[in-house]
Amino acid sequence: MSSREAVTVIGLGAMGSTMARTFLDAGHSTTVWNRTPGKAAGLGAVEATTAAEAVAASKLVVISQVDYAAMFESLADADLSGRVLVNLSSDGPARLREASRWAEERGATLVTGGIMVPPPGIGKPGSYAFYAGPADVVAAHRETLAVLGRVEHLGTDPGLAMLYYQAMLNIFWTTLISYFYSASLVGSAEQLRPYAATMLTDLTADGPMGFLNISTAAIDSGSHPGAQNNLHMLAVGAQHVVQAFTEAGLDVTVPGAMAALFARADAAGYGADGLSALVEVVRKP
Ligand code: NDP
Repeated sequence: MSSREAVTVIGLGAMGSTMARTFLDAGHSTTVWNRTPGKAAGLGAVEATTAAEAVAASKLVVISQVDYAAMFESLADADLSGRVLVNLSSDGPARLREASRWAEERGATLVTGGIMVPPPGIGKPGSYAFYAGPADVVAAHRETLAVLGRVEHLGTDPGLAMLYYQAMLNIFWTTLISYFYSASLVGSAEQLRPYAATMLTDLTADGPMGFLNISTAAIDSGSHPGAQNNLHMLAVGAQHVVQAFTEAGLDVTVPGAMAALFARADAAGYGADGLSALVEVVRKP
């Protein structure tokens, strides 16, 4: 008999099924349920026939579905009293706060989470997830949750997990989407890759291209020195980026949105400031 905590996993998509397998590999007795039956084949977990039965099997219920509406729907008829629901699905922060009240009304505690790796990364070195909810509840289940990756507990406000998750996803997606655009412009991803890789490394290092550190100080202080690269010049340059994509007959949605943001900052009087002054128009939509 394993002395490890029993876990129920609700949702057996790419993420949930890998989480269930990871818990099983770590020696946790694991019960699973998925809306569409048959997804547990070959996992070696106990497959419950209803969500209510799955919830009854373990105090700790880990949920990974497309969004929070799926949890409301799936667990509508389950007895949740005394359960700790750890939802690692995506949604907006306000929806997470609503879900926390929903769980509380049913006698359960909700811990919200956002896992920062794709399925093959779950439980592997470097994997981590943001969590929000009562500190004592997170502490009580930390060892089990750590099977999936490092536990980053952000605080008690249930919205925090998705605030950080969506913030990180925004960086991840816009960075990669920019690469897709630029590879299309050059015509070969392989030709561009070494230059893009160097830029991504340099951005996070110290030095003249270390704009992550440079911008961090500027954003938090509200001071945006523009002597070396003023925003008016950058706004004109952003139009040239759009021009290059237009001339190549490519989509200009992302470069166009970027140029529009520069133009708005320039028109708002930040022309003599630096790049990070864009944050001032982001804050005032
Ligand atoms: P999948 O599309 O592979 O799986 C979606 C899951 O949600 C399935 O189990 C599906 O059940 C279930 N589901 C959808 N709608 C409902 C509903 N109305 N009622 C009950 N169950 C429902 O998604 P992933 O596993 O990839 O992602 C799961 C969550 O994890 C998402 O919120 C995603 O944003 C997040 N995430 C995903 C990452 C990834 O790289 N894949 C990385 C980090 C987070 P059914 O089989 O019946 O359709």
